[in-house]
Amino acid sequence: MRIVLFGPPGSGKGTQAGILKQKTGAAHISTGDALREAVANKTKVGLEAKSFMDRGELVPDSVVIAIAEQKLRSTGDNGFILDGFPRTVAQAEALDVALRGLNKPLEHVVNLKVDDEELISRLSGRRVCSSCGEPYHVHTKAPARENVCDKCGAALVHRDDDKPDAIRNRLQVYKTQTEPVLGYYEAQGLLRNVEAVGGIEDIANRILEAVAK
Ligand code: AMP
Repeated sequence: MRIVLFGPPGSGKGTQAGILKQKTGAAHISTGDALREAVANKTKVGLEAKSFMDRGELVPDSVVIAIAEQKLRSTGDNGFILDGFPRTVAQAEALDVALRGLNKPLEHVVNLKVDDEELISRLSGRRVCSSCGEPYHVHTKAPARENVCDKCGAALVHRDDDKPDAIRNRLQVYKTQTEPVLGYYEAQGLLRNVEAVGGIEDIANRILEAVAK
């Protein structure tokens, strides 16, 4: 499978990518995770990206394109699930060029549809494991022990960009800079819309149905 999981922040791209990876063996490529790792390791990229991320703004195209290209080069035969990339039309164009070079064209762009009210509730309650990145939610997916990851035992954190001002900014940035990418893929006939509300497994099945057509 070679797909982009598209959608606003909080639409469940990371959660669904994890499930699809398990079901298909495709590589999960998240530019957000790669950037958070760079920030934690205080690399040159991390230091450059941190202030953009904390404000909920996009990291410059040149930085994220380089990350995505490097990850795509090392994917195996089971394909890839891109999560959170591309987020601008310039990134989508660069992705096309990179995939042409690798002879691995995109098969589908799955747009996860969720309304704004639900997104704000999901993002403000979201907690993530500081070590393995497993996502939680204070109401809908609480860990067995408060603030402790069920999977690896590390502490959960409330991301700075999941706090109210940054959430508002991220949704605004999505509408102005990222949503236009949908038109780019619609014109290529790659766009598949999926209602991304309800049970996590039900949504995963809807995605699999949409990409099987
Ligand atoms: P995410 O975990 O995908 O929501 O990404 C967290 C943050 O990382 C975003 O709010 C951006 O600041 C940055 N980021 C991740 N992916 C990209 C991208 N494709 N283009 C620009 N910035 C990105």
